[in-house]
Amino acid sequence: MVNCGIIFRASIIAVLFGSGFVACRPKTQSNIGADVHGVTQQSPKPCKWNYFEDPSLNWTKEEKAEIEKVKSEILKTYGIVMKSGERSWSLDELKIVETILPKVPLSFAKYTKAFVRGLSGGSTAVLGFMEKSDEITIYESAMCDMEETVVHEMGHAFANANPAIFDAWKQQFWKDPAKPSGSPTDYGKTNSDEDFAESVEWTVLKPDVFLQQDSARVAFIRKNVLLLHP
Ligand SMILES: [Zn+2]
Repeated sequence: MVNCGIIFRASIIAVLFGSGFVACRPKTQSNIGADVHGVTQQSPKPCKWNYFEDPSLNWTKEEKAEIEKVKSEILKTYGIVMKSGERSWSLDELKIVETILPKVPLSFAKYTKAFVRGLSGGSTAVLGFMEKSDEITIYESAMCDMEETVVHEMGHAFANANPAIFDAWKQQFWKDPAKPSGSPTDYGKTNSDEDFAESVEWTVLKPDVFLQQDSARVAFIRKNVLLLHP
């Protein structure tokens, strides 16, 4: 298992743990900033991190029953298991996930098999992590940026399951890794994996802005990943 911290530590830790597989989503300064999470800055979401109390201890029987109902709806519709990890998915969080998943096609969502509700990825900078190739942990620190984190991590699950498409991505956009071309974020510029996940995120969530910025990346993701035709 690879633990991962913010990006400049992630590669070192990956080497220490003997794995080259790092797929976490750190919140670097660049993606806290106005251009990636501009919406958060303009209209702060009513969301707080809570590392100290486990809210599930106070849930009523009725709430727990409702939670199980929403989880089984997500499983039935998308084939995604909403697992408890160090924390359990709350009803509010599950309802957010339910609003995100219809934004991606089922042909893309099927590569994600589980979302695990984590607590801390070792640092509040880490939002999400793909621990197994198709099982994604979403940490407490992502609860205010759930939409972005969920779609980003699903991008990693897709890339992992579709190496030929990911190779074509690298061929087109990372021919010279020393000179990465325009990923939508600074974090995406760090390597081809993160560029791919960020580009999926932006194509799904901010298509108009991204199209202006990099129509080639949008076209690739639409055609090969989301299976949408222009
Ligand atoms: Zn990532």
